[in-house]
Amino acid sequence: MREIPQDIKDIDNKINQIWQRNWQNSGKSRRLYGIIPMIEQRLKWTNWNPDKGSMHFLSGHGPYKSKLHELKIVESPECSCGQLSTPEHVILHCPENHVKADGTVDARIVDLRNELKNVDIREIIEDDIKRTSLDLLATIISYKEKEIYMRRMRRNIYDQE
Ligand SMILES: [Zn+2]
Repeated sequence: MREIPQDIKDIDNKINQIWQRNWQNSGKSRRLYGIIPMIEQRLKWTNWNPDKGSMHFLSGHGPYKSKLHELKIVESPECSCGQLSTPEHVILHCPENHVKADGTVDARIVDLRNELKNVDIREIIEDDIKRTSLDLLATIISYKEKEIYMRRMRRNIYDQE
């Protein structure tokens, strides 16, 4: 492989420094910043294209009532199980999310949750296998939550007619 010239490396470093400074000083995406504070860290994971579910989880902008409540879309920030509906609760802990519509336990979700149990989110993100498990888990549950939300919205519209 051809060696990258020093001046190109210097430019890359300068760009990354500016990017890092902007990331630190931006008031936006602070949840994600708390999980991935260093730009260089993210740039190392060249093979990771997070799924929509993971993006929801990491950004906090997903089917979580705490967020939807903040945006005044739902009345309560609580999950139907009674806990505060945060990304961690919905994806990693909510007892209602490992039960299928027919009432049986969804073994895929239980297995994925066990794999990520008691592991810090930053540790999950650093590990290729755990990161993939989070992608899968968050995608399954985000889709499921979206379906529940859409069903409820359709029912509300139907009831109003
Ligand atoms: Zn819950």
